[in-house]
Amino acid sequence: MITMWSGGDQQVPFALACALATNDLLGDLLIEFGAIFAEPQGLPPQRDCDHRIHLLLGTTLIIIEELAVMVQKSKHLVVFTGAGISTSSGIPDFRGPKGVWTLQRAGKGVPNASLPFHRAVPSLTHMALVELERTGLLKFVISQNVDSLHLRSGLPREKLAELHGNSFKEICPCCKTEYLRDFEIETIGLKDTPRRCSDKSCGARLKDTVLDWEDVLPPEEMNSAKEHCRSADLVLCLGTSLQITPACNMPLMSIKNGGRVAIVNLQATPKDKKASLVIHGLVDKVIAGVMSKLNLRIPPYIRTDFVQITLRHSLKKKCVRWTLRVTSIHGLRAPLPFLQSIKVSFPERPDMKPVVLKEQPFSLQRETSMNRSFFMLLTLNFTDGCSCLSSSIGWPVDFLDDLPLLYTVPNEMEFDINVLAAAV
Ligand SMILES: [Zn+2]
Repeated sequence: MITMWSGGDQQVPFALACALATNDLLGDLLIEFGAIFAEPQGLPPQRDCDHRIHLLLGTTLIIIEELAVMVQKSKHLVVFTGAGISTSSGIPDFRGPKGVWTLQRAGKGVPNASLPFHRAVPSLTHMALVELERTGLLKFVISQNVDSLHLRSGLPREKLAELHGNSFKEICPCCKTEYLRDFEIETIGLKDTPRRCSDKSCGARLKDTVLDWEDVLPPEEMNSAKEHCRSADLVLCLGTSLQITPACNMPLMSIKNGGRVAIVNLQATPKDKKASLVIHGLVDKVIAGVMSKLNLRIPPYIRTDFVQITLRHSLKKKCVRWTLRVTSIHGLRAPLPFLQSIKVSFPERPDMKPVVLKEQPFSLQRETSMNRSFFMLLTLNFTDGCSCLSSSIGWPVDFLDDLPLLYTVPNEMEFDINVLAAAV
C-alpha cells in the first residue's frame, strides 16, 4: 500500500508506507504457543528448587499466564531487550545456536543474515511492546540492539534507551539533534559521516552512534536506563543472554528497591538465579501468549520511507529541457532501500518513449516541446520482502501553466493503491 504523508515541509513531499507481513504468523502463534518451547542451549540448565526455571511443555500455559499477571499488576514495567528479539526479523544473535559467536567458536564463520539489515522488519515482540507502551503498561525499554527495530516499530524515542547505539541513527555532536535514516549509516565507532546537521545555524558534521568495543556507553542513555531500572517494580528481560557488562547488571538494580526481574530467553543466563520468573523459550511465542492472556492485540507493522520527487526545467527556444529526480529526502547520495526501479511512462503520448530507471539516484532528463502537455506516470517497483510489489503516482505536466522551475510533486496528490500478496 502507498499512503500519503501530510507534512507542511516541502522537503517531505510524501512517504511510502508498506504493510509488511509481520502479523501473518500471529494467528498461528496464538493457537500454537503451548507447543513451542525449545531445549535450552549454551549454559547448562539451572534447576535450583527455590528458583522456578521453566522448560517443560506441560507448565507452559500456566507460566505464560503467570507472566501476564505480573505484567498486568506492574506499576512501572521496564523491558530490557537483546539480540534474541530480532532473530525472527532475520538478524543473527550472538550466543544463540546459530549466533555470531557460537558459529565463530565452532569455526563455522559468521552466519548470514536472512535479510539485509536495512530490510529487517520488527518482530512480533517489537510490535507487542509498542502496544504495551500505548496502553500505559510499559514505561520504558532498554535495548542492547543496534538494528533500530524499536524505533522503526513506532516506540516513542523518549521511551527508549539504546545502550550500544543505532546503525540507522546519526547525531549532531554540537546541538545533539538526532537523525534517524531509512538506510544504514556508513560508519561505526562514533566517526564522522558524510552528512551535516541540517540546522542552518549549526551545520556540524554528523557522527554515527554505534559503539566500537573500546567505546564507553553513552551517558544520557545509561542515566535514563538506570533511573528506570531503579524505579521499576518489574524488569522483563527479553532475548538477552545477560552477559555483556555493564549493561547486563542493570535489570538487577530493580531488586534492591523491591522490584522483580523476569527473564524470557532461549538459553539459560547467569542472572536466572536472581529472577522471580524464568522462561526458556522463543521470545515471540511467549510474548504472543502473554498478549493473548492480556487480551491485547499486536498491531501490524507499517514501514514508512520518505521519498522526494522533483521536476526541474529550463527553457530552450521552443523546447523545454526537464529533469525528473526521485531521491531520498536525506540527500542525493542516500539510498532508497525499498525502491528497486522506477518506470516512467507517458500514457497519453505514444510519441514519448517510456523508460525504466534502475540506478539510484533515479534521474531522467528529456527535451520536449513547450506547447504540448503530457501526463507523467511513475510506477515505483519495490524490492521483494515488501507486501506490495509496486505502486503508481502520476500527474499532468504543462510547462505553459506557470510551472515553477523546480517543481516538487505536491503532497495532496492521490496515489493508486496496489496491494499485492505478501512476497515475504
Ligand atoms: Zn547541529
